[in-house]
Amino acid sequence: MSSGNSAPSRKNKLQFTAETKCSFCPGSKCCNYITQAIDTPRSIADFDQLLWQLAHENVQVYKDEDGWFLVALNRCRFLQAHGRCSIYESRPQLCRDYSNDYCEYDAPPEEGFDLYFQTYEELDAYCRKRYKKWDSRFS
Ligand code: SF4
Ligand code: SF4
Repeated sequence: MSSGNSAPSRKNKLQFTAETKCSFCPGSKCCNYITQAIDTPRSIADFDQLLWQLAHENVQVYKDEDGWFLVALNRCRFLQAHGRCSIYESRPQLCRDYSNDYCEYDAPPEEGFDLYFQTYEELDAYCRKRYKKWDSRFS
């Protein structure tokens, strides 16, 4: 999670270490979205509801080894220019617990996803393949 340190500059070159890593992270990647675990969708009705959620801007869905998750691609309002956290001393526990040991800086999260739907159209296409009755679900 975003650091309280300023970004490296030519005048003040930081060594890349575990402690300074977040200062090198463009845009503080992990401070630009939230995820929320959701029940595993099983029925046509479940997927239709997911489709409604993906009809909204900046909402995505993925499945990995831990289950299904909604993603809201929204920047934290406390993330300042140069990747600084403006509430660093009182930031939420989740931010404190987040490890930068192997994070978005090292690899895109989607590398670990089994399924990833970034748009309404992608999920709709998946549902059409999964359910023969998908297109006639309202009749
Ligand atoms: S993505 Fe990793 S390196 Fe970047 S701010 Fe978050 S924890 Fe730090
Ligand atoms: S509170 Fe600070 S560390 Fe947590 S997401 Fe927002 S900017 Fe990042």
